[in-house]
Amino acid sequence: MKVYNTLSRKKEEFVPLEEGKVKMYVCGPTVYNFIHIGNARPMIVFDTVRRYMEYKGYDVNFVSNFTDVDDKIIKKAIEEGVSAQEISQRYIAECKKDMEGMNVKPATCHPLATEEIEGMLEMISTLIDKGYAYPAKDGTVYFRTRKFKEYGKLSHKNLDDLQAGHRDIKVAGEDKEDSLDFVLWKPKKEGEPYWESPWCQGRPGWHIECSVMSKKYLGEEIDIHAGGEDLIFPHHENEIAQSEACNGKAFAKYWLHNGFLNIDNKKMSKSLGNFFTVREISEKYDLQILRFFMLGAHYRSPLNFSAELMEAAKNGLDRIKNGAQNLQFLAKNSKSSNMDENEAALWQQSQEFVGKFEDAMDDDFNTADAISAVFELVRFANTNTGEGSSKEFLNNLHGRIGLFCDILGIVLEQKEEILDEEIEGLIAERQAARKEKNFARADEIRSLLLEQGIVLEDTREGVKWKRA
Ligand code: AMP
Ligand code: ZN
Repeated sequence: MKVYNTLSRKKEEFVPLEEGKVKMYVCGPTVYNFIHIGNARPMIVFDTVRRYMEYKGYDVNFVSNFTDVDDKIIKKAIEEGVSAQEISQRYIAECKKDMEGMNVKPATCHPLATEEIEGMLEMISTLIDKGYAYPAKDGTVYFRTRKFKEYGKLSHKNLDDLQAGHRDIKVAGEDKEDSLDFVLWKPKKEGEPYWESPWCQGRPGWHIECSVMSKKYLGEEIDIHAGGEDLIFPHHENEIAQSEACNGKAFAKYWLHNGFLNIDNKKMSKSLGNFFTVREISEKYDLQILRFFMLGAHYRSPLNFSAELMEAAKNGLDRIKNGAQNLQFLAKNSKSSNMDENEAALWQQSQEFVGKFEDAMDDDFNTADAISAVFELVRFANTNTGEGSSKEFLNNLHGRIGLFCDILGIVLEQKEEILDEEIEGLIAERQAARKEKNFARADEIRSLLLEQGIVLEDTREGVKWKRA
């Protein structure tokens, strides 16, 4: 499997630090509003990377934070006259709903910056002890950028060029040793959330949060660190400087970055008014379509969002879903069980699409080509099946389409809400089965209901049920 590493600017063979395991950190959103469809791109893309790694047999420890202390959160809290925590908790809950709609798996762990302050104080103290950081008179703690010799290795920036860009920017009140130095800890302002520290009552800088959360939940050395390309500089560059200066080890082996999402070929921004939240999109489209649309492009390419492209994605996804449904329908009505020789040969032939799918995904997660392989498989299934096909052949083909879709995070069949009367009917059937001592069927019905989240309870007054 090859992955493009921003650090080396090359596609490299993926070799995990520990055999069979992947430690992966993805920078999560700042939670001061509903997430927008730009924020959704890294979520969908890196969830697909995770799913593919899991398909390949890796045990993936996937950590993604919520940045829940930030100027924008504080500003929103002041506007609404509520606490910053109320804002961040509200939008974390909303973000999780959107993630579910997009079928983004919950991370192994979603740490919150505000719950990890202790680790941040520890890392900042170590950096001061090692001479990589210093407190200024007002209690701000800065990272001594020039002291970290490899600064710029991720963004491929040169320190002197950066310095030239900074020369005229002298912010009043700052007493940095060098204009390149960046903030690790800053003093509180009136009305802002703050924590005690050896330097001043204040709060952490954004970059230190991720260095600390990644270290706590994944260790000092990780396999993959990822996020949108705007994070390469300064966020990830600064994370590398902090973590490597503190731990004395290479921080992440592979750095993956997704390209930006634009709207109607223009940068998406609030001021241009071309700005969509995931929630707004969900009012018009099933979020599965948004996911399918995003995976239709390579994750590193810029991606343009427009109504026409969403319509095209909808049609494409329908083609796959219809193909799968057709197979299911045929299987239900098929009269023959097992594959005949001809079908066995065709099944063997369809292995070709697995090869195509895997080759595409192994080439730096080329989901666009992987989707083409799914289309080819659906076309193959449409041409080679009919009323005379065996259940085995139809189910095999359906299973393979389902497997591909699962890796892409596309749900083929929406679970339909089971109606109360259907539940009552099944319970009556279960009672009848028990009377006839057909316990196998009775158990089957119980599990069937459990799958739908219906829990049965046998009481003296009869069977009671509830939705779990
Ligand atoms: P933020 O909440 O701004 O820290 O962003 C959370 C994640 O969304 C980061 O990985 C960003 O790089 C990513 N992101 C923000 N805007 C876009 C966009 N328009 N296209 C793609 N990714 C984006
Ligand atoms: Zn981060």
